[in-house]
Amino acid sequence: MQMPVKNAKKSKAVSIMNISIAIDGPSGAGKSTMAKRLAKKLGYIYVDTGAMYRAVGLFVARAGANPKLAAEVSPLLGDIEIELKFLSGAQHIFLCGEDVSDLIRTPQASIYASDVSALPCVRAFLLDMQRGIAERNSVVMDGRDIGTVVLPHAQVKIFLTAEPEVRAKRRFDELRSMGVSVVLDEVLRDMIYRDKNDSGRACAPLIPASDSVRIDTSGLTLEQSIELLERTIEEKIHAV
Ligand code: C5P
Repeated sequence: MQMPVKNAKKSKAVSIMNISIAIDGPSGAGKSTMAKRLAKKLGYIYVDTGAMYRAVGLFVARAGANPKLAAEVSPLLGDIEIELKFLSGAQHIFLCGEDVSDLIRTPQASIYASDVSALPCVRAFLLDMQRGIAERNSVVMDGRDIGTVVLPHAQVKIFLTAEPEVRAKRRFDELRSMGVSVVLDEVLRDMIYRDKNDSGRACAPLIPASDSVRIDTSGLTLEQSIELLERTIEEKIHAV
């Protein structure tokens, strides 16, 4: 199945019916794995907003621009075209027509993503696209600011977290399983850098929405975490 998710025209008719589930939290908390499973089960669209920031980061890296400088990044935005497609059940991200789903997962891409994501011009550029998708579809959207900025009216907001060492180990295992050669200490260092960057920035920092349910997955297996998440969401959706 191929279902392009683009920044298309808004539809008033469907927007009333759609459900939005916002999942925020630091990297390695298990957001994407759980959000994907949940979306599949509910028949919703999974939207990985981190992948969008990573794609912008990759474009900026390739252009040789400084990812921390709005003056260098802003002029590039007009040339960036991002598209999410679902191919054989998996989400792929296309940057100007190129499938960059694997390329955006390297540690270098993570740092570029975190750096460009602190720029208000980049956040504004992606915001419309993210909101547009949620207006036209029921979504499970994961990121850092979904419950606070992107979808403040989401019916369910979850803030997922875990201890940094636990998150680093999970990320390390994930990267190794993808064939990326990394060292655990480096992954932990990158994670602490990104946590600090993401939580400390002035624009849309990583903070739990006041009406979010906080779930710490440190001592839980993936299955236990998913079970807890599903139970929490079921209760919330039934209460809507
Ligand atoms: O979720 P993931 O680790 O793929 O995100 C990569 C980076 O993109 C994060 O470290 C964060 O800086 C940025 N991001 C963001 N807001 C989002 C999603 C991701 O700032 N909604």
